[in-house]
Amino acid sequence: MHYADYKTILSAQNGFNLYRGCTHGCIYCDSRSECYQMDHDFEDIEVKRNAVSILDAQLKKKRTPCMVGTGAMSDPYIPLEEELNVTRQCLELIANYGFGLTIQSKSARILRDLDLFKEINKKTKCVVQLTVTTFNDDLSRILEPNVSTTSERLDVFDALREERIPTVAWLSPILPFINDTEENLRLILKRLFRANVRGIICFGFGVTMRDGNREYFFNQLEANFPGLKEKYIKTYGNLYNCISPYSAQLEDIFIRECRKQGVMCTPVETFSYLRKFEKKSNQQLSFYGLD
Ligand code: SF4
Repeated sequence: MHYADYKTILSAQNGFNLYRGCTHGCIYCDSRSECYQMDHDFEDIEVKRNAVSILDAQLKKKRTPCMVGTGAMSDPYIPLEEELNVTRQCLELIANYGFGLTIQSKSARILRDLDLFKEINKKTKCVVQLTVTTFNDDLSRILEPNVSTTSERLDVFDALREERIPTVAWLSPILPFINDTEENLRLILKRLFRANVRGIICFGFGVTMRDGNREYFFNQLEANFPGLKEKYIKTYGNLYNCISPYSAQLEDIFIRECRKQGVMCTPVETFSYLRKFEKKSNQQLSFYGLD
């Protein structure tokens, strides 16, 4: 771990990342691609020095509250967070200043901050997002080795449903020849519907590969799935978009089942929901039992 100085934290779209790099070890991770020009090892986490005071100043400057988001490029609940509490301190600011929050993770550690999610959601909107790629815990231990298993993440969804915190799932990536089966999709959907997720973000049934993440992914395939690296090379070469041969069929099931359940299933509708700042009226608070 090392510290680095930054002048700003919030992006133009009101997103922020407190850490640079990640130790969760997902074999398909796009954030380790060369295009992000990380000048340190991906696992040597860069902590943004004074992140909390910079965010404090940037939020204070905003004239009207809006949704702010974290978790896009690095998980805000890496093990280091237990020691540093940077994510928690930033959530406290967001709660105090009356901003809305969207937060994304793969770790059950996220429940540590349930009190703050409830506080934010009482006044505005707090949406928690977790990624689920495979229903099979043994496979999730290979695909995402250093973070909560799928069943632990699904338990997090249940806990959030109990607390009336809205949730969105990321069904991404779907790795050709690994988790691109109808059985996997149906089991995940059934469980997510039971957890009452508002939306499921899926960018198509495949995975993207760029310089940097491709090499890492291929090394992991060699270590865990004998023969699969060669199959990927033969099928996709250096393509960016590696689409599952079952993509059309899976997409069809996905859209049909989500529509049946009234769950948002296009990135456009789900992102527009995530971006929309909502102030709860007293009437809503009483309806949701939050007053
Ligand atoms: S949690 Fe996200 S950033 Fe971390 S290794 Fe996995 S895909 Fe990469």
